[in-house]
Amino acid sequence: MSYVKGLKCRECGREYHVDPIYVCEFCFGPLEVVYDYDGIKKALTREVISSRPQNLWRYKELLPIEGEPSTALDTGYTPLVKADNLARHLGIKSLYIKDDTVAHPTLSFKDRVVAVALAKAKEFGFDTVACASTGNLAHSVSAHGARAGFKRFIFIPASLEKSKIIASLAYEPNLIAVDGNYDEVNRLCSEVANKYRWAFVNINIRPFYAEGSKSQGYEIIEQLGWKAPDAVVVPCASGSLMTKIWKSFKEMKDVGLIEKMETRVFSAQATGCSPIVSAIKSGIDVIRPVKPDTIAKSLAIGNPADGYYATQVIKESRGYGEDVSDEEIVEAIKLMAKTEGVFAETAGGVTLASAIKLIKSGRIAKDDVTVLCVTGNGLKTQEALIGKTAEPHYIKPKLSAFEEVLEKINTVKS
Ligand SMILES: *Cc1c(COP(=O)(O)O)cnc(C)c1O
Ligand SMILES: [Zn+2]
Repeated sequence: MSYVKGLKCRECGREYHVDPIYVCEFCFGPLEVVYDYDGIKKALTREVISSRPQNLWRYKELLPIEGEPSTALDTGYTPLVKADNLARHLGIKSLYIKDDTVAHPTLSFKDRVVAVALAKAKEFGFDTVACASTGNLAHSVSAHGARAGFKRFIFIPASLEKSKIIASLAYEPNLIAVDGNYDEVNRLCSEVANKYRWAFVNINIRPFYAEGSKSQGYEIIEQLGWKAPDAVVVPCASGSLMTKIWKSFKEMKDVGLIEKMETRVFSAQATGCSPIVSAIKSGIDVIRPVKPDTIAKSLAIGNPADGYYATQVIKESRGYGEDVSDEEIVEAIKLMAKTEGVFAETAGGVTLASAIKLIKSGRIAKDDVTVLCVTGNGLKTQEALIGKTAEPHYIKPKLSAFEEVLEKINTVKS
């Protein structure tokens, strides 16, 4: 039993049956899953959710799957870390890190979207899954796909971080490294998707895939004690995660799980690839595509598919956006690690560094309950910190050698 009513064009509203399709035949608008919210309102209570296992399927009525979930039972329900040290440092009262650096199985929020995409691919009867990736999606489709028994074709820009390439290869997918940036990889994949009957998670399965992001939003609200935050800062690549966090917050209110929702949504991007934030800052709705140049490769989409919708979310919620330099990203990664013990990838640095600017400018107020969406693990992008951290203290294996170093450390500290 499912509460999915079908697919609907976001532009002209035309309705479609549930199929592996993603654009409207009439206006080329993107398709989105629609639900029977009245039915969900009756079935889904806080008690029902709380009684279920701690994975993303505890919100299954609000996700586009049929029947009982049987895959990805370990994905979702990551910690919401109360970041008191960091809050004190930034001079704000109540700060949280939604910590998807520990997502199962591949340490990024992409595990959520891939969980839903592959459940759907299985329902549709596909035997091969594929994706165009900025890194984390490659890693996640490789892993989830291996466990669920799919053949896997993974397309990436050849310039991706070494650690993400190796991490993907461990699961032995067919990894296709394309000489081009993500936007070029994606264009190639659209052609491949037209020709082969594969489940491309971010192309023909995209309407279902994208819904998986909502689980992050539901968890934030549940973990705040069934309250929506005042502000949420979301890193944006295609803009999908941001639009889905907003959708999840609105749904929680619509189905009666929370009484009020007045969250402002803030976009975080790297200055070297900030088409969404640029549009917001210049007050226009048109996304001007850019050529990405940033260490935040997982966010390096120059022509974001959901960019326009992301700007609408920012406007509707009365949020804003900030962009940050590569240096600011590295500093923020280190600040989060040394204050909260959370080691984020470059995208997490983008989120924190942007939040710092938003707090400084007063767009996020000192007493706003604020959530930072930290979406990927620092072990995946260690390259970014090479030469940017202190050196270890190299010593001979002798107590006297250690004590010499200790004395130096103590004099520096005092
Ligand atoms: C993919 C990704 C995002 C956001 O992606 P959207 O395309 O905007 O949904 C954020 N952080 C990380 C680490 C990612 O891999
Ligand atoms: Zn349409």
